Amino acid sequence: MSSSIEWKVAAERDLMNLGSRPRLFVRGEGSHLWDDEGTRYLDFLGGIAVNCLGHAHPVFVEAVSRQAATLAHVSNLYTSEPQLALAARLKRLAGTGEQGRVFLANSGSEANESAIKLARLHGNPRGAQTILCLEGAFHGRTTGALSLTPKAAYQDPFAPLLPGAKAIPVTIEALEAAFAEGGVAAIVIEPIQGEAGVRELPERFLARARELATAHDALLILDEVQTGSGRTGRWFAFQHPDVVPDAVTFAKGVAAGFPLGGLITFGAASELFSPGTHNSTFGGNPLASHVADAVLGFIESEDLLANVTARGDQLRAAVAEYPIVSGTRGAGLLIGVTLEEPVAPQVAAAALERGLIVNAPAADVIRLAPAYTIGDAEIDEFLNLFREALAAVAQTQEIPA
Ligand SMILES: *Cc1c(COP(=O)(O)O)cnc(C)c1O
Repeated sequence: MSSSIEWKVAAERDLMNLGSRPRLFVRGEGSHLWDDEGTRYLDFLGGIAVNCLGHAHPVFVEAVSRQAATLAHVSNLYTSEPQLALAARLKRLAGTGEQGRVFLANSGSEANESAIKLARLHGNPRGAQTILCLEGAFHGRTTGALSLTPKAAYQDPFAPLLPGAKAIPVTIEALEAAFAEGGVAAIVIEPIQGEAGVRELPERFLARARELATAHDALLILDEVQTGSGRTGRWFAFQHPDVVPDAVTFAKGVAAGFPLGGLITFGAASELFSPGTHNSTFGGNPLASHVADAVLGFIESEDLLANVTARGDQLRAAVAEYPIVSGTRGAGLLIGVTLEEPVAPQVAAAALERGLIVNAPAADVIRLAPAYTIGDAEIDEFLNLFREALAAVAQTQEIPA
């Protein structure tokens, strides 16, 4: 593509009409991206919490290259060493013990579809068909996962959705009332609601969900597509409050940019699937599996989770002082910067103009999800650009400082 006009025309004409794409990127290295005009950007969104080692990291490049040159795909009729290695590592990192099992798929939505089928396998013999989700939840765009994503703009055009899906307010009272009604097969929860604007759960919410699910013989399923794979400073966010789920889904950061998602089960939930009930042609292929195993292995051997925690604290403390910032949320390097006014889209646009990539999952929230490898240099660059973007928007909005 020789000019920005040309790619914009091609994008509008050829790509499905699903939203504007303000830049065309051609290259990445570390925490930086370059567009077609040679402009450099600091990437603090990480492809929506995916590029946990940044761009073109040697571990990623080497894993993709070596495995692609060795064995890329054998189908779900067979297995491979990378698939076995990844499953064993995921069980260990999730702390399932012997009884855990792993199903590998290709995306977060597919991982959650697998979890929904797990909920049916558990609930159907008990006559329990309700699958609870939370208001503000995002579980994906496939129709099952969409049924657990209670947002009118996403759901309404695709009705009717999955029978039994039910959204409840994010309060302990609503949780107790929903279980008291009976018929609950499972409850699906994000430990931190990323797409809703990095919203944390109320105190003790997860622990209470665990108690109620156990008491009512329902599954507690955690969607850690965004919070898992080390993003919050632990391998999985559920390891902060130390609540043990029956199943957890993951995707986004797990292979640092290679498409892979999956489901990990704990205890008796590990025996629900049986031959013929589920599978995926690409799922668990040796290429994706090896990349994920190498990425997770590198995060472990370099103790990058300590960096995730430390850099997250550093960023939260620094931005709290900035113009129009009212506070911060999240854990580790999944950060929501809340604003005093609903100007987050303008802030994200002003940041992009200055060479900084962040996004606005809600009108008053900027999300940061940078690479686990960031250091002082990236943070200094971020702070300068972010403060400028905030100041520029504060000025145009004439918001009193
Ligand atoms: C991104 C996301 C999904 C969907 O993942 P895809 O890979 O886009 O299908 C599901 N759940 C959560 C919590 C997510 O953040």
